[in-house]
Amino acid sequence: MTTVPAGACACPATTPFLHEPGPAVDSGPGALARLGDHVLDVHRATRSGGVVVVTDAGLRATGIVDEVLAVLAAAGQPTVVVDDVPGNPTVPAVEAGARVVAEAFPGSRPVVVAVGGGSALDAAKGVARLAADPTGPGLALIAIPTTAGTGAETNGFGVLEDPVRRCKVYCGDGTTTPRVALLDPLLTHGLPPAATAATGVDALVHALESLVSRGRSAVSEAFAAEALRRVWRWLPVAHADGSDATARAEMLLGAHLAGQALTRSGLGLVHGLGHALTAHHGVVHGRALAMVLPEVVAWSLDDAGADAPAWARAAELLGLRHPGELPVALARWTDAVGVPPGIDRAALGLGPDAVDALATTASADPVCRNAPRAADRAALSGLLTRSAR
Ligand SMILES: [Zn+2]
Repeated sequence: MTTVPAGACACPATTPFLHEPGPAVDSGPGALARLGDHVLDVHRATRSGGVVVVTDAGLRATGIVDEVLAVLAAAGQPTVVVDDVPGNPTVPAVEAGARVVAEAFPGSRPVVVAVGGGSALDAAKGVARLAADPTGPGLALIAIPTTAGTGAETNGFGVLEDPVRRCKVYCGDGTTTPRVALLDPLLTHGLPPAATAATGVDALVHALESLVSRGRSAVSEAFAAEALRRVWRWLPVAHADGSDATARAEMLLGAHLAGQALTRSGLGLVHGLGHALTAHHGVVHGRALAMVLPEVVAWSLDDAGADAPAWARAAELLGLRHPGELPVALARWTDAVGVPPGIDRAALGLGPDAVDALATTASADPVCRNAPRAADRAALSGLLTRSAR
């Protein structure tokens, strides 16, 4: 590992980039109260009306959806709710949502308001795209994340499951990028500790993988660095006390900044292997990432090459003296919030064939293309084997 002076940038200004600003961001405790204004702004511009709220049944039971509906009613907006989004949203679920929109608002362009975690936001992007004329723009979308993790409010692409072809498909385009990302930390206070931790680990990995990504730029670095600093500092606090208003606000903003970073830079091998663990063994996304994170970082550091300054920047942001300290520090940090490193071989029934299958799936995942150290199938198998306990 090369020694890099403190304060070095991960990405010099000579690296070319195109910066597209993305959604308007309305952030702060109580921001939900301004949802009606944002909807009316969109309708004034498009001369249309009505709202479709896309969410999941679990969130509806918490009362958050009722708060959203009350704000929309006060704005005089006719509203329908699509609340049967599955945990991993499917193409048929999104098609059904689009039919609800067509029946409720024939020939019109209602605003889609997405309320929930990554699944609800991804499904809403699909509904916004499929419910509109395919030759024109998708329906306008306003995203209200209720978890501090995915950063799905930063871009227009939703990940859906196609149960017929048994694969993940992307749905959406630039026109389904949310017009507004409404970040109200009060909506995240009720998230249980386990979900707070798993989604927060996801946000940290977004920030770290973006910071060292081959696709990084000066702009993505700025977002990633700020996200990394905030999530590292505040997830343990939000996990320990979900009613800590400062920690919840810092986490929601940190996760959003991490989303802004990854949307610009892409991710890496932790996500490639994590996606495979979720697809094959049903592991929750953030937990799957933590299982392989220390080994992927250690292996990447072994041959950091031109990416050494990026790793040094990551270490510096986490208050470490040397990038070599990253694998152990990351493992301790996720473990402390109940998201342990390492793959429990027995719990997942992970034999040699399973490792091969996971490595094959991960090697085909485009998310791996931006990894700072490229990994072939054999390297991915090695990472999985070394992560197994
Ligand atoms: Zn992720």
